[in-house]
Amino acid sequence: MGSIEFEHEAENNSISVVNQPLEPEEFRRQGHMIIDFIADYYKNVEKYPVRSQVEPGYLRKRLPESAPHNPERIETILQDVEQHIIPGITHWQSPNYFAYYPNSGSTASFLGEMLCSGFNVVGFNWVSSPAATELENIVLDWLGEMLELPKSFLFSGNGGGVIQGTTCEAILCTLTAARDQTLRKIGTENIGKLVVYGSDQTHSALQKAAHIAGIDPKNFRAVKTSKSSSFCLSAEALQATIKSDIEDGLIPLFLCATIGTTGIAAVDPLQPLCEVTKRYGIWVHIDAAYAGSACICPEFRHFLDGIENADSFSFNAHKWFFTTLDCCCLWVKNPSALTKSLSTNPEYLRNKASDTKKVLDYKDWQITLSRRFRSLKLWLLLRSYGVGNLRNFLRNHVKIAKVFEGLVRSDKRFEVAAPRNFSMVCFKVSASSTLFKHENDDNEKQKKSNEVTETLLEKINESGKACMTHAVVGGMYVIRVAIGASLTEEKHVVGTWKVVQQHLDAILSS
Ligand SMILES: *Cc1c(COP(=O)(O)O)cnc(C)c1O
Repeated sequence: MGSIEFEHEAENNSISVVNQPLEPEEFRRQGHMIIDFIADYYKNVEKYPVRSQVEPGYLRKRLPESAPHNPERIETILQDVEQHIIPGITHWQSPNYFAYYPNSGSTASFLGEMLCSGFNVVGFNWVSSPAATELENIVLDWLGEMLELPKSFLFSGNGGGVIQGTTCEAILCTLTAARDQTLRKIGTENIGKLVVYGSDQTHSALQKAAHIAGIDPKNFRAVKTSKSSSFCLSAEALQATIKSDIEDGLIPLFLCATIGTTGIAAVDPLQPLCEVTKRYGIWVHIDAAYAGSACICPEFRHFLDGIENADSFSFNAHKWFFTTLDCCCLWVKNPSALTKSLSTNPEYLRNKASDTKKVLDYKDWQITLSRRFRSLKLWLLLRSYGVGNLRNFLRNHVKIAKVFEGLVRSDKRFEVAAPRNFSMVCFKVSASSTLFKHENDDNEKQKKSNEVTETLLEKINESGKACMTHAVVGGMYVIRVAIGASLTEEKHVVGTWKVVQQHLDAILSS
């Protein structure tokens, strides 16, 4: 019965003839509807359960088995978005979303994204759309200046920036450039000797990049960090590891240092690390995926001190810089190291401008050929808000994080598990709380407190009232609260803290 009705309804809602896929007036009508739909979504986003509550495979049960032969009306499709897609969305734009790192949206970047999709050009080289390359050059110089990057990272200082899709790509591209630069000196037969360094807190992107770049898995070093040094990579530990590798006949190649690690937002000390790498000619990449944006505020800029001795730097504007996915900004001191590794020159792309070498072709700075006009969204962002407002948006999130940190500290059952950096608070049910006074030793207490913390996190996420994720550092299971959704205000973290407390009460009384 259901299927007959479904077909009947589909027929009623279908339109039989569409002349062409892009009709300006139809675009206007449907486009306005979608904007209204999204505006309403933002208005109501707080009402949805933050983490999607669906079961695996939920969608196949609800949608037809194959694509419709006849066209359907946008109204019908939007109804299905409401009924079938939204339940399967985890609401990253909800003010009560604190999981992973934020993917903060903004009106300006959304509109830039629309322009990008609207023009729909493919700016792989200069001639394919000169504005796409030139605006990217300009916007990355602007941003580089806002971050007070050394002049050598900017186009004006013979370095330069490029927008990659994600940090994973930025790391892979720079590691490949570093690898080839070294192999040109030592010969490709020595690739098996190259060593890549990070810490045990470095993002898995580094290991994947090393794998793809053909680094021997035995030569990947995740240098151990500890609670006593706040899980930062220590220059002494790095130095000792490098020394031992050299004694073994290996060749140090690449260090990925992190400003704001994914687990707990730890900050690796650039200055002392670069003192070490300088001695060995190691390429240093700085991964500031989440925290880089904060460095546009003078009070946070010191975290980048020492960057003058690094080779490349990247941050994700799509994380905590109010830009829609995807938008990873990468700067390198020596663009020709990148282009020597990544350029191709097929006949079908040849053109006068490229031949005269007066222009830059971004296809040679990245993995893919085709690329989107992403700089539009950064350009709109920077112009629509101005540097002053952008700083204040970031500062406000940090202020809210401090409020949340204070709430955690005010309840003796909890502890702040790692120093709060930027807008991230890591907490857990405290092993030294009286809750665990019956456990025999510290190990038992830690184990028990970890278990309760893990249960607590799942209960919070199941409730749909807030969404958070976890990290495990130094044997501690910690809940991460990363503040940065554009709609989050102080009242949301105050409310969320009550949710946390209520769920702990419930666990303890069960
Ligand atoms: C999120 C994150 C990444 C990965 O970013 P993608 O853009 O998804 O590749 C890498 N490093 C750090 C420190 C991160 O927080």
